[in-house]
Amino acid sequence: MTDKKTTKSPSCAGCTFDIPERVCMKNKGKAAKGCPTLMQKKVLAEANKEYEIAAIQKFANKAALQEAQGYANRDQTPYVMQPCKTRIVETCEFAMKMEYKKIGLAFCLGLSKEALVVEEIFKGYGFDVVSICCKAGKSPKEMIGITDDQKVHKGKDESMCNPIFQAKTLNSEEVDFNILLGLCVGHDTLFFQYSDIPTTVLAVKDRVTGHNPLVPIYNCESYYKKIRFPDIKE
Ligand code: SF4
Repeated sequence: MTDKKTTKSPSCAGCTFDIPERVCMKNKGKAAKGCPTLMQKKVLAEANKEYEIAAIQKFANKAALQEAQGYANRDQTPYVMQPCKTRIVETCEFAMKMEYKKIGLAFCLGLSKEALVVEEIFKGYGFDVVSICCKAGKSPKEMIGITDDQKVHKGKDESMCNPIFQAKTLNSEEVDFNILLGLCVGHDTLFFQYSDIPTTVLAVKDRVTGHNPLVPIYNCESYYKKIRFPDIKE
């Protein structure tokens, strides 16, 4: 239809129709106002053209294969979804499908024990692993304008997290595929910005929940309702 900016912006998150009834799930399905399936035809055509590039099509094809193989017993009818693979297994299997040989592991120093296990698991699948922690390089926080008072440990020397160094090191090592493990909000963004290598995320940093940022979301109608009222002081 139209792509004009005068139309409502997409808000799939607020789409109220039952999922199987939606236009993105079936022909002549229902659509919310601003529905990108109906309103962003030009952008959709541009996006879909990208999949004609052989390398992109291969990547997307392997990702879709991995997605389906994450469910067991798909020959049963009617089929009830039976997910059977963890993220780390899927990551290893996807990397094998892509015929990657060398994995880059960019991790947070706070997850050093986990990084060692992850490295061992990837080696067990036959990959070479190059790993680099966030504090590598020992660049001082003062370099980015952080004052003593703004440090985690006030008044002490504090190395900054250096995701640009992590990304550039893995670029120079010519790894095939990067795995992020526990990088902080914003540091992960800089890593993506400076990485020349396809990158996925095994885990994101969430210090309070054991790195499971959906815990607050699952609890937001019960004990963690306060997340919906950010103006109320603790
Ligand atoms: S694409 Fe359209 S139908 Fe699908 S979730 Fe978004 S608004 Fe709803």
